[in-house]
Amino acid sequence: MSGTWHRGAPEAVSEDALRAALVAAGATLARHQLVRAREGNLSARLSRDEILLTPRDVDKGSLTAASLLRVALVGDPPPGASSEVWLHILAYRTVPSAAAVVHAHPPALLALDAAGRRLETDALKDEAKALLPAVARIGPVAHGSRELAKACAAALVAAPLVVMPRHGAVARGADVWEALARLEAAELAATIMLGLARA
Ligand SMILES: [Zn+2]
Repeated sequence: MSGTWHRGAPEAVSEDALRAALVAAGATLARHQLVRAREGNLSARLSRDEILLTPRDVDKGSLTAASLLRVALVGDPPPGASSEVWLHILAYRTVPSAAAVVHAHPPALLALDAAGRRLETDALKDEAKALLPAVARIGPVAHGSRELAKACAAALVAAPLVVMPRHGAVARGADVWEALARLEAAELAATIMLGLARA
């Protein structure tokens, strides 16, 4: 743990480690096609009132540690922050235990939702089911809007993953990898459900 500097939380992780985790998770999102081109955004909590967030208009598959922005959870977000900056700010403000938030556009999950079906996590094996004890869904609201941010943040209190119809999904986690695993588990369950529907 060389280079670690604590920020108050008992399980505090170094800022460098958080930056590296976000870069690696962005690459995984792109590689697994949970985002395409410049879609999606992800963040991790630095302290009670500050996060690291991806910048606007960058490919999440080729993030750099230095490009991640520090964003305070109070006041106006910095210029250049992700278009969904309010989604991240309100999620951390509303769910104090959230240490990471990942937003992606998982294709099977969107296809399932567009077909009018709800995700059934019974399709998953036990460890994936444990990741998704509940899945919430919000009404259709504009990308990047404060309304979307408020609806998602409220839904994230009771469910670790929220489906946004015709848009994507957002997951919170105890770290970046847990949030990412929740999106992956939801996408797998949706893929299985769509496959069963075609059989
Ligand atoms: Zn989006």
